[in-house]
Amino acid sequence: METVIQQKELNYAAVTKLMFDLAARYEFIKVYSIGKSVVGRPIYAAEIGIDKDKVVYAGGFHGSERLTTLTLLIFLEQLSAALKSNSDFSISNARDALFGKSLIIVPCVNPDGYEIALNGPKTAGTYAQSVSKILGNNEYKYWNANARGVDINHNFDAGFEQLKELERSEGIVGPSPRRYGGEYPESEPETKAMADLCRNNNVLQLICFHSQGEEIFWSYGENTPDRGYRLARLFATASGYRLVTPQGTASYGGYKDWFIKAFNRPGFTIELGKGENPLNPNQLYDIYNKVEELLLLGFAL
Ligand SMILES: [Zn+2]
Repeated sequence: METVIQQKELNYAAVTKLMFDLAARYEFIKVYSIGKSVVGRPIYAAEIGIDKDKVVYAGGFHGSERLTTLTLLIFLEQLSAALKSNSDFSISNARDALFGKSLIIVPCVNPDGYEIALNGPKTAGTYAQSVSKILGNNEYKYWNANARGVDINHNFDAGFEQLKELERSEGIVGPSPRRYGGEYPESEPETKAMADLCRNNNVLQLICFHSQGEEIFWSYGENTPDRGYRLARLFATASGYRLVTPQGTASYGGYKDWFIKAFNRPGFTIELGKGENPLNPNQLYDIYNKVEELLLLGFAL
């Protein structure tokens, strides 16, 4: 596979450069900032298409899940190459598959967490000292939160009270490398940027990429549309990943939870790969190949 990702451990500056390089090579990609992280890093989206109906793919919610960002970058490149040459992407003609829709890809929702998990607290600017304090004796490579120690995927307005109860039962009462949902929903700029993206666009469906487990989450409460389950079954068939229904208090405050609750439209969380986070970068192409058809179906259907 020919790809721009030669070096497997890209820092966020390299991720950004890669997005702009792709936009320079493919005139139909627009790269723009949808907001800024706590430390001030722009959160970039790459959009293909000019239609008003959008599909959103997002990764890099959790610092230690860098492979979700890299998988989406490979996807952006592969899809763009197929669109330019009017050829197939996975099992369908790329232009036919995208007809009538625009695709918005946010490869890294949490740039500060991405950098902290890769290169340590010193990357957090004026937050470096407080990140070190929150980290304590934990290793930085497992960091998942943003630079204020809030887990972005626990900070959306979906079952927040239940989530807080659950946190307290687990002894999480303040900023933490992982699983602290913040003081109130959308308290963090990264969360607000992602919610605004859906409030300001007509988003038909969205897929959040996390790692790991080779699992597909598709439901959240009573607002889960039937179409969500139908799509999830197709995703499972295409990838070999397992469908999972969250049990009891297992899932609150996530982007897909909030999207389903707020819009009554299909939202998914896909857990990429297997092993322990951070996943070994040498798994990247195996992971990508396994989900390429799922990545097609996610916007084609
Ligand atoms: Zn995650």
